Amino acid sequence: MPTRAPRTPPFEIRFSPIAGRGAFATRAIARGERIIEYVGERISHAVADARYDDAAMSEHHTFLFAVSNRTVIDAAHGGNDARFINHSCAPNCEAVIDRSRVFIDAVRDIAVGEELFYDYEYQRSGDEAAEDEARYRCACGAATCRGSIMESRAAYEARVAAEAAKRAAKRATAGEPAPTS
Ligand SMILES: [Zn+2]
Repeated sequence: MPTRAPRTPPFEIRFSPIAGRGAFATRAIARGERIIEYVGERISHAVADARYDDAAMSEHHTFLFAVSNRTVIDAAHGGNDARFINHSCAPNCEAVIDRSRVFIDAVRDIAVGEELFYDYEYQRSGDEAAEDEARYRCACGAATCRGSIMESRAAYEARVAAEAAKRAAKRATAGEPAPTS
């Protein structure tokens, strides 16, 4: 597993007739290669919510990346070109969270000139209204497009179940006497 992103990322930002601005490979990229770190100002979810009023915005927050329940990276402040990588439901890259840092890695071999994508999979809160669904609608064109930039309902339910199980396990552990040494 690579641990660092290269000093010069192997892509350039160009306007694409389809998706506005995007990131395009400037050389062949091998599967598993670390492409760039997603950087920006690290803020809390509360600060992110205060900074961006979702209802007042016609576009979704393309420059926010939720790292954890505590931290959001706002690439509109101190961000690099990673913020221009577009979403796809059938991406050639993935966002990898490594010790609270975020990296974009290739999930398959990528040819020169190909546009880079990763799956944004925005976390659902579970009570999305029709207007939220409309705001986060996906039109990536992939045969497997799920129609939303948000995680699927099934992924949401699996995540909620996993978090509940984790909390239950933690409670069970806390209830046990400390091991003797
Ligand atoms: Zn899609």
